[in-house]
Amino acid sequence: MASIRQLSASVINKIAAGEVIERPASVVKELVENSLDSGATRIEVALEQGGVDLVRVVDNGGGIAPDELLLAVASHATSKLVSADDLFRVQTLGFRGEALASIAEISRFLIRSRQGAETAGAELEVVGGVAGEVAPCGCAPGTTIEVRNLFFNTPVRRKFLRSTQTEVGHVTEAFTRLALAHPQVHFTLRHNQRVIHDLPPSADWRDRIRLFFGAEMADGLIWIESEDPPIRLAGFVAHPSQNRPHARMQYLFLNGRHIRDRSLQHALGEAYRGLILTGRYPISFLCFDIPSDMVDVNVHPTKMEVRFQDGGRLYSQLLGTIRTKFLATDLTHVLDPDRAAQHVPAPHSSNLAGVAPLPSGVPASPTGVADLAEWAKQELQAKLGGAKPQPHVDFGQTPLGTPSFAARSAVPAFVPFADGARATWQTPPAAAPLSLQPLVRAWQAVGQEETSPDETALDDSGSVPTGAGADPGQGTVGAPSLAAALEHLLPADAAGARGDYFAGRASPAVQIHNRYLITESAEGVLVIDQHALHERILYEQFRAKALAGSLETQNLLVPEPLDFAPAEAAAVLANREVLAQLGIKVEPFGGGTVLVTSYPAMLRSVSPGQLLHELVELLMNDTRAPERRDLLDELLHMMSCKAAVKAGDRLTPEEIDALLAQRHLAQDTHHCPHGRPTALIFTREDLDRQFKRT
Ligand code: ADP
Ligand code: MG
Repeated sequence: MASIRQLSASVINKIAAGEVIERPASVVKELVENSLDSGATRIEVALEQGGVDLVRVVDNGGGIAPDELLLAVASHATSKLVSADDLFRVQTLGFRGEALASIAEISRFLIRSRQGAETAGAELEVVGGVAGEVAPCGCAPGTTIEVRNLFFNTPVRRKFLRSTQTEVGHVTEAFTRLALAHPQVHFTLRHNQRVIHDLPPSADWRDRIRLFFGAEMADGLIWIESEDPPIRLAGFVAHPSQNRPHARMQYLFLNGRHIRDRSLQHALGEAYRGLILTGRYPISFLCFDIPSDMVDVNVHPTKMEVRFQDGGRLYSQLLGTIRTKFLATDLTHVLDPDRAAQHVPAPHSSNLAGVAPLPSGVPASPTGVADLAEWAKQELQAKLGGAKPQPHVDFGQTPLGTPSFAARSAVPAFVPFADGARATWQTPPAAAPLSLQPLVRAWQAVGQEETSPDETALDDSGSVPTGAGADPGQGTVGAPSLAAALEHLLPADAAGARGDYFAGRASPAVQIHNRYLITESAEGVLVIDQHALHERILYEQFRAKALAGSLETQNLLVPEPLDFAPAEAAAVLANREVLAQLGIKVEPFGGGTVLVTSYPAMLRSVSPGQLLHELVELLMNDTRAPERRDLLDELLHMMSCKAAVKAGDRLTPEEIDALLAQRHLAQDTHHCPHGRPTALIFTREDLDRQFKRT
C-alpha cells in the first residue's frame, strides 16, 4: 500500500466541494446564505445558462474588509464561530467556513466587497483554487460574488449537470426556499437577463407565498400557530382539498433555515389523515422557532437535515396544532362543490376515452368529499375524548421523545379505502392447481400496480358480484361512446381480426365483478382483465398516432395556467417536445406557472391540471440518464392507463364487443416495457384433466 500523505489544500477543497456543491443551485444556496448572514436587505441573483456559465449574487450587507478577503476564500475560515461551544448555539446560516473555498476551487471566482463605512472596496479573483492579489476597487457597499464556469476543472461533476432548464429549476427551488424563509428581504432572480422573480420585502408572509404559488393557493391557506415554550410554531397549512401527489410542497423552516425532516412530515400526514386520500400529501409553509441549543444543525454538510434534542415534542406540537385548528374550522363549508371539483376528478362520465375515476375509491361526488370531511371531523372529535374544539392543546403532558399524541389519537383508516377488499384479489383462489398460462405473456409487474377505483364493488369473500350490483350509480359507461371510440379507430381490415378469436360468432363474453370478461377461444376459457386490455389497446393506438404525429389535439381557446413548484415547472418545460408529441403544448409563463395551450382530445375528461401534475411526478421521479429512458413510452402508458375503462366500470354488451374486437391490437406487446397480462387462459386440456375426463 502507498504511504500515508497529508492531502493538499486543493484536494481537501475539492473533496469538500464534492459534498457541498452539487450543481449551480448549491452555489446559489451558499452565496445567498452568506448574504443573509451579512444582514443584507436586498439580494440579487443572476444566472447565465442555468448558472453553469455564471452565478452572480449581489447583496447590500455588511461586506468584508479588504485584508480579510483572502481569509474568506480560505478553507475552514469563518467569522461565525469562535469556539467549539459556538457549534451548539449557531445563529447564522453558515458556520463551517467551507463554502467559498469549495466554490473557488472549482470555478473562476470573483469577489468584490465593501464595508459600509469605507470609501472603497476591494476585489479578489480565484481561478480553480489559485488566488490572485487583493486589489482596491470602486463598488457599492455590500458584496458581489461571481462564479463562472462551474466545474471547469472537475469534468466528472460537470457531466452530471442536466439541461439548462433543469438546472434553472433547481436554482429556482433553492431560491424559493431562501426567499420564503426571509420575506423581509428584497430578492430578485434573473436568468439570461430575464427576470424570473422580483420579490419586494413583505411583512405578510402570505404575500410572498402568493408571488411564488399564485393567489388561489395562497389565499386559501389556513394560519396555524402555537407555543410550547420555548418552542414556537407558526405558519400556513393548505385546505385538505389542496393536496399534491408528492411531499415537495411541504416547506419547513427552522430558525430561518429550510429543512427536511421525515418525522415532521409524518406528523403533517397524520394531521390530515382521513381528510386526504392515501398517496396524496398536504401542503404546508411552517416555521419553527427553537432556541439554537435545542437543535444540532451540524449533522449534514448542506445543513438540509438537523437533529432535534426532542423531536417527539415537535412532532406532537405540529400534529396537535393542526388538528386543533381543523376541529375549530368548518372545513365542510369551505369544500364547496365548485372548489372540490377542481381538485377531485369528475365522476364517471359516459366518455370512455376519458373516464377518470378517483384514484382510490373515494366517493366521487363533491358531496362525498364534504361527507368525508364531516366524517373526519367527527372522528377527530371522538378521538379527542369528545371535547369541544380547544384552541390550545396541553403539550406539556406529552412524555419526552414519544409522538404520543399520534398514538393517542390515531384515526382508523376510512373503511372504503381499506385494502381488505383488494386482498381477496391478490390471493389466487385457494389451492387452484390449474395452470394458468398468460395468453399474452407472463409480464412481470414492474413498479406499482395501478389502483382499482372500485374496490368497494367487491364483497370480502370475492364471490359473484353482489356488491357491484348493489351499486347501480357506479360506472356504467355509455354504450355508444365506447363502441364508437373503439370502432372508429379500427383499421379498415379489422373486421376480420375478430374472427381470429371468436370465429365470427357474436361475442359470448360475460363481465364478472365489473372487471373481468370471460369468453371462450378455440383453446379454452379466457379471462380478460378489462382495464388491462383497454389500456393496452389505447396504448398501441395512442403510440402509433403519437409517432405518426397524427394525434387529435384540441387547442384551448383560453390557455390554462397551471402552478407548479419551480423545479417542476422547469421539468415540464424541459420536456416540451415530448409533451408536444403527446398533444400537450405548454408555454412558460414566468415563475412556476406554465400555460397549457393544447391538449389531446382523447383525454378531454381528465383535466390538464390533473394530468400535468401526474406527468410532472413521472418526470421528477425519473433519475435515469436521459438516453436510457423512453420518456414518451412512459407518458403514453400513464395516459393510456388514465383513459382506459377501470375495474369497476360496468360495460354494456356493445362495449364488451367493441373491446374484444380490438383484441388483436393488444397482441403486439413488444414495445411494452412493463405491464400485466391482459388475459389468462384455462386450456381445455387443463379443464378436462381437472374434471377427470382424461
Ligand atoms: P461560512 O458561511 O460557513 O462562515 P463561507 O465560506 O461561506 O463560510 O464564508 C466565509 C466567510 O466569508 C464568512 O464567515 C463571512 O465572514 C465572509 N463572507 C462570505 N460571504 C459574505 C457576504 N456576502 N457578506 C459578508 N461577508 C461574507
Ligand atoms: Mg457560508
